[in-house]
Amino acid sequence: MSENKIHLKIITPEKIVYENDVDSIYAQGEAGSFGILPNHIPFMAALAIGTAKAEISGETINFSIIGGAFQFKNNEAIILTEVAEIGSDIDVTRAQLAKERAEAKLGNASTQHDIKIANAALARAMARLKAASK
Ligand code: ATP
Repeated sequence: MSENKIHLKIITPEKIVYENDVDSIYAQGEAGSFGILPNHIPFMAALAIGTAKAEISGETINFSIIGGAFQFKNNEAIILTEVAEIGSDIDVTRAQLAKERAEAKLGNASTQHDIKIANAALARAMARLKAASK
């Protein structure tokens, strides 16, 4: 691997969502947001439901990342997650409808379990809307 690039792979159980050599990566960890540049020391983080971005020659690619794990070593970065989308592939209408459904469910939720499920659906929809809007 080049000393000035990071080989990024975003993998779900179903497919490789994205694979490319990038200049930098930013993501949202459970413990806060972080950025990685080439030659960073080995690093691991649990990922929140949120967004990530990669920069390549001044161009930014945005992603929605539905939790999972981030691993970086020797300029190889892996995001292993149940679900992820590239911002430009996101169906904004679907995400907006999912957001409205989740908000309605939150309004009607009567148990902690219902609140947790609705909050998770809302976080997925918000991550998609954010990744698609950039
Ligand atoms: P919805 O209620 O719209 O199905 P969801 O949050 O329940 O949303 P997930 O279970 O997280 O959806 O994802 C199921 C599959 O649908 C995954 O493959 C995911 O990439 C895809 N997906 C979900 N929402 C969108 C969207 N707005 N645009 C593109 N793909 C989406």
